[in-house]
Amino acid sequence: MATETNKFQAIISHCKEYGFIFPSSEIYDGLAAVYDYGQMGSELKKNIRDYWWKSMTQMHENIVGIDAAIFMHPTTWKASGHVDNFNDPMIDNKDSKKRYRVDHLIEGYADQLKANGDEAGAATLISKMEALQAQDDLAGLKALIEEYKIACAISGTVNWTDVRQFNLMFATEFGSTASSDDADNKVYLRPETAQGIFVNFLNVQKTGRMKVPFGIAQIGKAFRNEIVARQFIFRMREFEQMEMQFFVRPGTEGEWYEYWKEARMKWHLSLGISPDRYRFHDHVKLAHYAKAACDIEYDFPIGFKEVEGIHSRGDFDLSQHQLYSKKKMNYFDTEINQNYVPYVIETSIGLDRTVMMVLSEAYEEQDLSTAEKQDSRVVLKFPAKLAPIKLAVLPLTKKDGLPEIARQIMDNCKPHFRCFYEEKDTIGKRYRRMDALGTPFCVTIDHQTKEDNTVTIRYRDSMQQERISIDSILTLVNKEIF
Ligand code: ATP
Repeated sequence: MATETNKFQAIISHCKEYGFIFPSSEIYDGLAAVYDYGQMGSELKKNIRDYWWKSMTQMHENIVGIDAAIFMHPTTWKASGHVDNFNDPMIDNKDSKKRYRVDHLIEGYADQLKANGDEAGAATLISKMEALQAQDDLAGLKALIEEYKIACAISGTVNWTDVRQFNLMFATEFGSTASSDDADNKVYLRPETAQGIFVNFLNVQKTGRMKVPFGIAQIGKAFRNEIVARQFIFRMREFEQMEMQFFVRPGTEGEWYEYWKEARMKWHLSLGISPDRYRFHDHVKLAHYAKAACDIEYDFPIGFKEVEGIHSRGDFDLSQHQLYSKKKMNYFDTEINQNYVPYVIETSIGLDRTVMMVLSEAYEEQDLSTAEKQDSRVVLKFPAKLAPIKLAVLPLTKKDGLPEIARQIMDNCKPHFRCFYEEKDTIGKRYRRMDALGTPFCVTIDHQTKEDNTVTIRYRDSMQQERISIDSILTLVNKEIF
């Protein structure tokens, strides 16, 4: 059975073996912190994406979705502050030449203190770090690393460079006028989807006749040149975000911030994950745009880590775009007869991190041994609504007309949800394979089916089996997957 430490490795192997997630361009030995989703992973990811989209847009009459381009006018990133401020403090070890994000290095050391039973020491270290971060005190951060004699994991030495800032945006050039010397020609791969929403604020508000408070949601790729890119799909260089900007009347941002904190936590709990697996983490060091900010953290096998951020951004973004574009970003509020630049509450969740959260929550190695025989299984207990395959249709044998009946069930069900047909191997092996893919329902067609039109349905989590009529399969599965 996997311990928490090796559970993470077990999940990574499982994802590869069962077609969820592969290292990118693996035949060339992969590309650091870039991953491809396979046949199962892309279904799982799509289901999570759809679930978020539906709960944000369809279920909120005042939230609409857009799909903005990855490339944006370079001035966008000047206005947003990313050109000047999207930096992480980094430090290099002079002996190993390895570069670390300063917060990761210190947090890693705090984790070691905790593991050695020094909870209080770890908390002191983190609070000292946060105080220095809040003041952008780079020299202070270096002094802290030296004070605690935090060593490089590779060289084992404390021979560090000064702490420096490193911009995380990927830049490229556009068209034939491109010249790498010309900073104005630089086009960035967006490091967040939010700015595509801000620059379209007026377009959407006017064409959609939206009234404050209202939201704009977007799902799409974002790119960050993460220095310490590690931990599987937790920290990638190319990833997907699901973001929503909620525009409110100035003065009401406090209550809307609380509203979205609660609403987002409810969404997480609706995935069937228990509340003690989550916690809020309020930011001490606020980003350049933020008035208040917190993270929703989930207890991954690698510890509590951020899955989602909720930020009260004030009117920073719209005002900045107003300044740089010289276009008015005002909204006229007919209820109070006033013109203003709306304030924004943002909810920003990583799709890939959510996939990793759902996988971590679902993955279970079970010992099913009895006195007679040793047995075990790996099961992914996905909520049915997120499972890549909802129903497996399994004829007991390849003959006697059983495959024909199974095919009819497939034809009947596949327009409604993802089904999987398999007639090879023993039924026991086929069930185990479906457990490993997280398929919540299997139906087996046997000789009795020909007599009374019933099949055996087998439930993934309980492994219970019962006979039901063929006619009821569709309703039963449909009921569970929404
Ligand atoms: P971190 O502190 O972990 O770098 P962040 O605070 O920079 O994250 P945000 O800018 O708030 O993250 O982005 C919102 C969400 O996007 C995060 O909560 C996370 O789920 C996701 N995300 C951010 N960076 C990455 C990444 N490199 N790989 C995968 N997901 C990411």
